[in-house]
Amino acid sequence: MGKAIAIDGPSASGKSSVSKGVAAALGFIYVDSGALYRGVTWQAIRKGVDTKDAAAVLESMLNAEWDFFVQEGASVFSIDGEVPVQELREKDVREAVADVAALPEVRKFVVENLQALENFGSVVMEGRDIGTVVFPESPYKFYLDADPEERAMRRYRELVAAGEDEKAHEVMESLKKRDQIDATRKADPLVVAPGAQVIDSTAMNLEEVIQAVINAVKEDV
Ligand code: C5P
Repeated sequence: MGKAIAIDGPSASGKSSVSKGVAAALGFIYVDSGALYRGVTWQAIRKGVDTKDAAAVLESMLNAEWDFFVQEGASVFSIDGEVPVQELREKDVREAVADVAALPEVRKFVVENLQALENFGSVVMEGRDIGTVVFPESPYKFYLDADPEERAMRRYRELVAAGEDEKAHEVMESLKKRDQIDATRKADPLVVAPGAQVIDSTAMNLEEVIQAVINAVKEDV
């Protein structure tokens, strides 16, 4: 069984870039847990399911064939033989995912699949509940945070760079809404895991944050 570095935090706190950087530096597998919640959401939408209809979302999730593998240092999954990547970032998925991720049965399915990824090797996993639920026993837990304005600007720049036609204030509103749903939902809300090291990246650059994580784990790995 491999080691697991858990990196949690709110939307656009820098989890993806930091987790990818740490995984590359240590030779661990990078895992984006949010992609699975987005995958469940995408599958429901493409099957024409109303994402507010919990029973129908579960049915579309359980009827699909899911496969997991590692490609270029990152964990990847297919749903009914297709590997969604860009599709997971689209607006309809983005807007429905927090509600889908609030369903306890969806969380159970995703958590079990995430835990099984350790069989592939040591992982750096980013998410909202990795330190609290997926790998609570891991000694390597981090909680990344940054001011909401800074996070909204980061997300806005990412979306504009990806060619999306977005307004800064709409990005801020959508981010706040998602944070609110994630932090207040009944099932596994976003909280700082006991024993997690909190890193506020508002005034730090990416390299500094990556280095802070590596310094905290490097004696053991
Ligand atoms: O990280 P990302 O923005 O892709 O996550 C999409 C959504 O999936 C989050 O807003 C949250 O609702 C959900 N999520 C979660 N638990 C995780 C990862 C993501 O609930 N570990």
